[in-house]
Amino acid sequence: MLNVASREQVRIGDTTITYLPDGEVRLYPTEVFPDSAPDGWARHTAYLDEDGRLPVSVGSFLVRTPSYAALIDLGLGEVDFEVPDFASFRGGRLLRSLAEEGLRAEDIDVVLFTHLHHDHVGWTSNVAPSPGMALGEVGGLTFARAMHYVQRAEWDHWFGVEDVVGPHLEAVQRPLTEGIRFVDDPDFDLPGLEVLPTAGHTPGHASVIVSDPGAEQRLLILGDVMHTQAQVSDPDWNFKFDVDPDRSRSTRREIVQRFAGGNDIIAGGHFAGSVFGRIGSPAMTHRWSTWNLAGQPAPVDTAAV
Ligand SMILES: [Zn+2]
Repeated sequence: MLNVASREQVRIGDTTITYLPDGEVRLYPTEVFPDSAPDGWARHTAYLDEDGRLPVSVGSFLVRTPSYAALIDLGLGEVDFEVPDFASFRGGRLLRSLAEEGLRAEDIDVVLFTHLHHDHVGWTSNVAPSPGMALGEVGGLTFARAMHYVQRAEWDHWFGVEDVVGPHLEAVQRPLTEGIRFVDDPDFDLPGLEVLPTAGHTPGHASVIVSDPGAEQRLLILGDVMHTQAQVSDPDWNFKFDVDPDRSRSTRREIVQRFAGGNDIIAGGHFAGSVFGRIGSPAMTHRWSTWNLAGQPAPVDTAAV
């Protein structure tokens, strides 16, 4: 039985990548992965909690290089609500997690969104919306000094759209409108961060490859290409809110095949237990191995074969 991930860090060369918890979501697994019905989760009970729900980590990745500090995604924000028969959502810890790394909001140079679903943009401004609750007064960007980036297709998909799973018009879109920058513009240049377009979950979804000149090993921040380690060995399981199900499935398969058996570290921000790991070779049915922080992979997916 795994819980949501704690703050944990890996280093490649002079770059550190730290998972900063903001909160958690508890999902009814068959409800949100319809392809897993009726009994697909029997192979993955290790990832469920004692009530049979899937604990989903929610937070941000802090990438620190010698020249900048970047946050990849911004969690849920300060929310606490339940959607009956679907999920519970609780967030609000991100700035404390950042403080535990010795940083304040004004120390962040870059914010990069993998996509603009509500659980990735929660700290964009000082307020995060909860269903049925009045919105507080929006006072501007939390990371006011940072450049904010996203893929242009993602911004265009959501801009002006009010959708409960998307970026809130007042709390997220309006504060970003003036300053948003696009990773696909020619002047995008953040040494060590490469954007890998991975459309499917959303139209402008992006994963991020982190590299360092002093290391051969790289690290892939998945975004929501996968929500659970179970999708490493069951990549055909789509998530209920994948905007383009066929594309989502093919993108997930491509990622599994490209990184299977390799040395690169995979970071799944929604994964339970530990967010860092590797994808095993096809001979191991692409089994997930968690990345222990001493640098050696250790199998955790005892139910996945
Ligand atoms: Zn998400």
